[in-house]
Amino acid sequence: MSFLSDSRRVTRALSDFYHRSLSAEGRVVTQAPIEDIIERLDLAGLASRGGLSGAKLSEFLDAYLSYTTRLHHPEYLAHQVAAPHPSGGLAALVDGVTNNAMAIYEMGPAAAAIEFFVINWLLGKIGWIPTPHPRETGCVPEHGGGVLTHGGSLANLTALLAARSRIAPDVWDQGNPGDLAVLAPAESHYSIARAIGIMGLGRRALYPLPVDDAGRVLADRIPQALAKVREDGRRAMALVANACSTGVGLYDPLREIGQACREAGVWMHVDGAHGASALLSDRHRALLDGADMADSLVWDAHKLMRAPTLCAAVLVRDAATLDRAFEQEASYLFHDKAQPGVDFIHRTVECTKAGLGLRFFAVLGALGEQGLGHYIERQYGLAAEAFRLIRAQEDFDCPVEPQSNILCFRVRGTDAAQIAIRDALIAQGRFHLSTVFFGGRRYLRATFMSPATTLADVSRLIEAVRTEASRVEAGGAGTAAEAKAGRPATPGGHP
Ligand SMILES: *Cc1c(COP(=O)(O)O)cnc(C)c1O
Repeated sequence: MSFLSDSRRVTRALSDFYHRSLSAEGRVVTQAPIEDIIERLDLAGLASRGGLSGAKLSEFLDAYLSYTTRLHHPEYLAHQVAAPHPSGGLAALVDGVTNNAMAIYEMGPAAAAIEFFVINWLLGKIGWIPTPHPRETGCVPEHGGGVLTHGGSLANLTALLAARSRIAPDVWDQGNPGDLAVLAPAESHYSIARAIGIMGLGRRALYPLPVDDAGRVLADRIPQALAKVREDGRRAMALVANACSTGVGLYDPLREIGQACREAGVWMHVDGAHGASALLSDRHRALLDGADMADSLVWDAHKLMRAPTLCAAVLVRDAATLDRAFEQEASYLFHDKAQPGVDFIHRTVECTKAGLGLRFFAVLGALGEQGLGHYIERQYGLAAEAFRLIRAQEDFDCPVEPQSNILCFRVRGTDAAQIAIRDALIAQGRFHLSTVFFGGRRYLRATFMSPATTLADVSRLIEAVRTEASRVEAGGAGTAAEAKAGRPATPGGHP
């Protein structure tokens, strides 16, 4: 095996895949039965004989890429993961080959330096004080901090652990006090409820916050919600706000929520996994007005900042709160040492941790922050234009006006019809949509991630959806789609 010639084969295949995806050549998605893919890729043969190199590698990659969903394709509208900038992809390759698991400084000084820089850069965008360099002593009393994790779900868990350590400082010795509560709107990502489960707080610790018809938090009703928590004999450990929500992409009013949390002394957590990136745009930054009042904020770079999976940041206004989140010791890793850098291991669930910062930094370094800001404005602007176009169609309906790059809509017909339409489009390999259940109805959901999608694609989408709606109405399209797709595609369940 020659690394150089094999990597040339890989980059050539990927470059072709990337450019063809951008120019909409071929299907956006190809759903084949899993056993067919296993056979076509000759996985069992290669596993026993080896030899995945040279011409065999090229053959394998061609087959692999033919069953690979094309996130850069203009018809890719399904989920919120980035259509990664190729520089980020190369960074993932660098990290994969060098494999500097950098949670402790000595295992990857360059990767740790990048993470340190990226965290501070993100803190600055929120308006929080960056972490001083280890050699700057005694100048900043309180400052922000953070860590990169493998995803927003883990980041939400980490932030809630920090919140728990503040209200229950001896939790690592004593376990959960049993009277804790977390308040969150029902539109919150499922990882919030899951984190509460993982922490052993129990489902009853989760209190839904009052919301308006669009699912946005009603900040003036927070005092009542907190009173209910107290009546139940509980203490509010944290209050979660969305910036923006996953389902329909709306922002909660952060400044008013922040004021209510300050008055009550409650930890405010902002889940900005998807939408915190609006901070990079002059036009949309106001959506996050008040984010600086939070105690913690989660921000995924692998969603709207074009980094490949995964690179998520958990950021706190007061770094000490994150350091206290994991008050546990492993003597071989955690000890005082004289070193010129910093360790991240005491702030994270992970022990071995990839050099995630590079995946994002390579994109930032290529585009610059203005370039990233323009991308966000383009995608948010496209969703707004698509909304106006779809709303003008007599047979279409949108539940809310979009505030981000997420747009929900439905065409005339039942809930089941919306799902059948999505499945039919996937079976045809065009217009990969997701769906969402919102306000008691099923909607089709488009997330504009690809920089190649235009309003002309949206016009074609409207026509395609309309055609499928007529077929479904006439009967049979749903089942035909299922037969072609191998099995019915599962609705919902988006990251
Ligand atoms: C995507 C998302 C998450 C989960 O992040 P992952 O990186 O997919 O684990 C959490 N919250 C919100 C609001 C999200 O949009």
